Parts: sequence; C-alpha cells; structure tokens
Amino acid sequence: MKKNELSIASDGSPLPGGPIVTTGNLLHFLELESLRAPYRILDAPDSPLLVPLSFAARMRKRDWFDPLLLQILPRGEELAGRKGFTVDPVHDAAAAIAPCLLKKYSGRALLLAGDRCAMTCRYCFRRRRGAPLKQSFDAIEAALLHIGRDASLREVILSGGDPLCLVPEKLERIARLLADIPHCSTVRIHTRLPVADPDRVDAHLATIAFLSTVRTCIVVIHANHEAELGGGVPAALLRLRSTGCLLLNQSVLLRHINDCEDRLAKLSCALLDSGVMPYYLHQLDRVEGAWHFETGVRRGRELMAGLRRLLPGYAVPRYVREIAGEPAKTPL
Ligand SMILES: *Cc1c(COP(=O)(O)O)cnc(C)c1O
Ligand code: SF4
Repeated sequence: MKKNELSIASDGSPLPGGPIVTTGNLLHFLELESLRAPYRILDAPDSPLLVPLSFAARMRKRDWFDPLLLQILPRGEELAGRKGFTVDPVHDAAAAIAPCLLKKYSGRALLLAGDRCAMTCRYCFRRRRGAPLKQSFDAIEAALLHIGRDASLREVILSGGDPLCLVPEKLERIARLLADIPHCSTVRIHTRLPVADPDRVDAHLATIAFLSTVRTCIVVIHANHEAELGGGVPAALLRLRSTGCLLLNQSVLLRHINDCEDRLAKLSCALLDSGVMPYYLHQLDRVEGAWHFETGVRRGRELMAGLRRLLPGYAVPRYVREIAGEPAKTPL
C-alpha cells in the first residue's frame, strides 16, 4: 500500500497506516462524501491537509460539524482576508535572538526544534509562517550554545512545529546537550503529538524519562475538546506520566468547537482524569485565514466565569492572550 493511501479495513475501521492527506480521503473515511457540505471546502489549500488516522478515528461519522473535523478541514473562509488578521500576529520575527531561538519572556527561551507537526490545525499561526523553517541541526546546536552562554535562561521550551515529531535520536541529542547546561533547570516540551497520534510518543519516552530525572521536565499538550482525549490518548498520557514529567494542557478558544461552558468543563475533567492540569485557554492569535475560528473576548470572559462556577480552582485554565511586546501572556 502506498504511504499516503487511506488504510481502511473491509468493515470500515482504520488500520495502522499513514496519515490522511487529502480532503477526498478524509470525507470518504467519515462517510461524508455523498452528503451535501454546509460550507465550502478547499481542495488545494495553501498548507495541505494532514491528519493521523488515529485522530480522524475520534471524529463522528457523517457529521459536518464534528469539533475535531472543524479543526483540520480546510474551508473557504480561509481565503477571505479580515482586518486585523496578519501573517505574524505575535511578532515572532522580532523575538528571534538566534536562528530558531525566540526570547520574549524573562528567564525563558523557546527553541523551534522542528518544523513539522503530526497534523495541520487550521487556526494555527505556525502553519502560516511562510516557508517552512528548514533549520539544520547546526542551527539547533548554535541555539543551544547561545542558551549555554546566557545564564539568565532558566527554562528552555522546545516547540516548533512539534518537537516530538523529530526523529527520536535528534530529540535525545538535544536533551543531552540541555542536560549539560547547568543553569537550565527546566525543560518544557510543547507538543500536540500525544493527542494527534498517541502511539508515536513511545519513541520518546526514554528521552523524557531522562530529562525528568536530571531536570524539571514539563510536557504541555494541546487539546481543545474532550473528544480529542479518546482512543489511545489516555493510555499514552499515562505512559508519559510514568516518566516523571509534569503534564499540562493548553487549549485555544475556538468558535463552534469549544466556545461553550459545558464543553470546556468536560475538557478540564477529562484532562484531570488523565493526570493533566489545565494550564492556558488562549484567545485566538489573529493570524491570516483563521478569522472564522475567533470567539470574542467578552464571550470568553463569560465562559470563564461559568467555569469558575462549575469547577474547582485547579481545573480552571488561565484565559490569556498573547500581545506582541508584552512581558508575559496577558490575562483576560
Ligand atoms: C508562550 C511563550 C512562552 C511561554 O510562556 P509561559 O507563560 O511561560 O507559558 C515562552 N516563550 C515564547 C516565545 C512564547 O510565545
Ligand atoms: S503547532 Fe500545534 S496547533 Fe499548530 S499546526 Fe502544529 S500541532 Fe497544530
């Protein structure tokens, strides 16, 4: 079978195989191809569709408004410009202190450790950065040297792309180099892989266990809806936890996906059931082509008030927005 071919058993259930990379295959898999679409679908979007079979398997069949599908299906709205939505809304370009190293906040630097993700989320600013960051391992090593020389950097955040989409040997190499930097006491990994394609975390468990032994290691996953935490995800989170790392989650507030008190409360509960603390609920970054995902801040604040009524304090994420030039994510 070709790598990109959709793998489905005769009973329609997914087989282990490559990700889905065309809208046609995704709609076929979800039994949507013969149903009239209530919105325009882009067949050839600027950043191609990419979704692991395991994530697609958590979508409801025959439902155009499935909250997971809405996050990854390229839609016509992407083509419409909107005032205030730009290519680099959070001014990453201005925050680069070395190739693939961003510093915006005190004591923390963010290393763009890879340019790949396990899937393409349509609301994400990373996929809009233009040319993919073709950083070589030399650039990463140069960034690590820079971190080693700057004793004010107590925490290094591995981000990307998705650092867990690196080949395991590369991540391990980065981990070993970080472990040699005495002032770097915390290593944080921002990843959607445990949610996107949970079984693929196994290749990195030894590295995360190593980091958890020699440093404080925090793994921040990214889930927006309770339904993302089905399938093999809870088991993968358990395996991650058993490495000794701390698990947090960040979400983005997304219209028609999680802009509902009840949905957000269920997400928090499901996260905690898997040992993951809710960390941030992000107001959408106003990136070009993502305006149709935006929920207003007023609505966001109402939702937060609702969450505080429903949940214990530790289950309520911090509702924040990133404002370029500010010294921290801004609480809303
Ligand atoms: C969001 C972000 C961080 C992390 O911020 P925390 O509030 O510590 O989670 C660090 N660096 C950059 C460049 C960021 O965008
Ligand atoms: S960086 Fe995260 S949110 Fe953005 S496309 Fe990759 S996996 Fe999705």
